[in-house]
Amino acid sequence: MTAGAGERPANAPAPFAIPERMELIVKVAERCNLACTYCYFFFHKDRSYESHPALITEDSVNGLCDFASSAALSGVKTIAIVFHGGEPLLLKPQRFDALCEALSAALEGLCNYSFSVQTNATLIDETWVDLFAKWRMSVGVSLDGDEARNDAYRIDHQGRGSYQNALKGLRLLQGAAAEGRMGNPGLLSVVDPEGSGAAAYRHFVDELGFRRLSFLLLDETHDTITPKIVKGTEDFMLGVFQEWTRDDRKDITVRFFSELIACFCSDEEMKHFAPYREDMSNVFTVSSAGDVGMDDVIRSLGGRFAEHRFNLFDHRLETVVQSDLYREIRTAIHAHRPAACAACDWWKLCRGGRVNTRFDEASGFERETVYCSALKNIYSRVVSYLLDNGIDGDDILRRLS
Ligand code: SF4
Repeated sequence: MTAGAGERPANAPAPFAIPERMELIVKVAERCNLACTYCYFFFHKDRSYESHPALITEDSVNGLCDFASSAALSGVKTIAIVFHGGEPLLLKPQRFDALCEALSAALEGLCNYSFSVQTNATLIDETWVDLFAKWRMSVGVSLDGDEARNDAYRIDHQGRGSYQNALKGLRLLQGAAAEGRMGNPGLLSVVDPEGSGAAAYRHFVDELGFRRLSFLLLDETHDTITPKIVKGTEDFMLGVFQEWTRDDRKDITVRFFSELIACFCSDEEMKHFAPYREDMSNVFTVSSAGDVGMDDVIRSLGGRFAEHRFNLFDHRLETVVQSDLYREIRTAIHAHRPAACAACDWWKLCRGGRVNTRFDEASGFERETVYCSALKNIYSRVVSYLLDNGIDGDDILRRLS
């Protein structure tokens, strides 16, 4: 029997529901004043920025407000808006302020929403600090270690290091936080497989005064990974863990480890949070030209992932979440267990690792993360630490089973 107009054929896959929470990564600037050597946005397979306007257009701002408010009316309860780039502070403060005004007017009363910005901090001045304070914006600063380490990778277009300029911006943010005008800025740092995690942690905490730290594993796939990167990543993260646990301070969080410990120690966290810890399926990227795609790191896989199929003007969230691409990513994250993970004791927590690091050109997302061996050793070390500190091993085992 064939389906009538408007009906779904009996053998068609079930439609995906509108997510309760989503993150909109808004590319307010698709250029950067830096040229970090590992940047996935400018130096990987997604070359879309080359044909996009340097700064978000007014049409895209209007389209974004319509897209976000329509998503809220369709049932999204929480929208986290992350201003991103390139370097988002290349958009002048006046336009940035107007963008926040427009989004706020569109979403007020429809859903919970928040603004945050990820910046290299080199362009921050008092005007920006006032703007962040006005919008209670959470600010993440990207840095990669001490001056020598940072300036080996985070360089400008003339090859000059960016550390000193970033430090000036960071101090302005921290000064405003100390006065109670805004929250403490967080750190976002990319793991350096050839560097020391312990030294990086000590620098960020002792010398730079960060209290919220986040470390990103390199966005490698099975087509690009090397054993050296995996081992270097493991050593780096274990070095961070060693110093963080040595400090044993409640006011310092290292996101990766804080999340792991919360899951190991709480039934609720393991049940409700662990499956979404690495969920990138409800993260959507909006380009300066108004295109809507999946999370940037998924787009950086290239091919069909980098195609622009949707935009703010012709499509709504309902269309995006019914697409083959969304279905493929969401199924890989939530419904597919790689063969290598079949008998793994860490599955409930790990879920095969971050989906983009499970990718290879030949089989898509069939495999476990490239960081599997490193993660197993890291999980074991965290559990050993918890056991040494009096957490009941049977409880941990029960939560994992
Ligand atoms: S640790 Fe490895 S085998 Fe276990 S779930 Fe994670 S990726 Fe799969």
